[in-house]
Amino acid sequence: MNRVKCLIIGSGPAGYTAAIYASRANLAPVLIEGPQLGGQLTTTTEVENFPGYPDGVEPFQMMDDMKRQAERFGTQFVSGVVTKVDFSVSPKKVWVEDTEEYEADAVIIATGASAKYLGIESERTYKGRGVSACATCDGFFYRKKTVAVVGGGDTACEEANYLAGLCEKVYMIVRKPYLRASEIMQQRVLNNPKIEVLFEHNTIRLTGEGKVQGVDLFYRKGEPDEATKHIAIDGFFLAIGHHPNTDLFKDFIACDPEGYIITDGASTQCFKCENAQMGKCENKKIPGVFAAGDCADPHFRQAIVAAGSGAKAAIEADKYIKSL
Ligand code: NDP
Repeated sequence: MNRVKCLIIGSGPAGYTAAIYASRANLAPVLIEGPQLGGQLTTTTEVENFPGYPDGVEPFQMMDDMKRQAERFGTQFVSGVVTKVDFSVSPKKVWVEDTEEYEADAVIIATGASAKYLGIESERTYKGRGVSACATCDGFFYRKKTVAVVGGGDTACEEANYLAGLCEKVYMIVRKPYLRASEIMQQRVLNNPKIEVLFEHNTIRLTGEGKVQGVDLFYRKGEPDEATKHIAIDGFFLAIGHHPNTDLFKDFIACDPEGYIITDGASTQCFKCENAQMGKCENKKIPGVFAAGDCADPHFRQAIVAAGSGAKAAIEADKYIKSL
């Protein structure tokens, strides 16, 4: 068993920033890196909106910079996945890979969020054989081919632009008559001659012999001019949002119906009750358990916001530990 003051779960901007602050406060934090080192950001191509990088930065570089900064002040990193927690006791208990046990005065949850899928059967059939949720990871396999990206947000636009740099042709399958993405991302997509946006289209099924070779689409389903359409594609990329990685904690802390951890307003402290309505949770906070980043943020989901909340969580953890 390992006894620590401050345990941080997750290695995205929230986790690393919490580690920088906690280690500078002499909490000698241990950070459990989780299944995706560097977090979700490492699935994007370039970060252009994190202050301090006027020319943009590669996400792996930025995450490595954060890690080294935390390391400099004494954070200890553990590669592995947290498989079980017990927040009903003090100190809190956390197990890594079911075997390694940690006891911590304070735990900072920074487990982020993961890509959503449409939920259609053929998506599962072709997973890894033409279906992907990460253009940066898998786009290389589709050089000079034709792909489709589902979604109309910033992620979808970013993925479509990235894929247009590799592929012959990129379709965007957008269910609304407009893109939800920020203006600059929309313009990049709409001005890219390799990208064709199919507005008001929804996916029916994927088709192909052993791998994705096409997709059947509905156009304006339920409207007088509804139609179906088939397009030939080699790859199908999901970019329809994310769900928070919080299943592991749900027996101990309050989450909203979508699974995002509910925190105490401006604070990062977690609540005890399940299926909580904020009003009913007063005085039921869990001392020593804090949440930061996308696992507790259904609204902004930005690296800089996650980093800011990581700093807040570490400051609150420090205060809590000093009060013991
Ligand atoms: P969003 O929630 O913003 O967008 C999801 C998109 O997927 C929407 O167009 C939505 O359609 C569509 N969608 C959702 N479910 C389905 C479905 N079942 N079938 C078809 N389409 C569906 O998620 P993002 O991941 O794009 O962005 C999340 C946050 O991260 C945002 O705040 C965004 O601004 C930010 N971000 C910023 C970046 C940057 O600044 N560089 C890069 C990437 C993300 P509808 O519009 O109809 O709901």
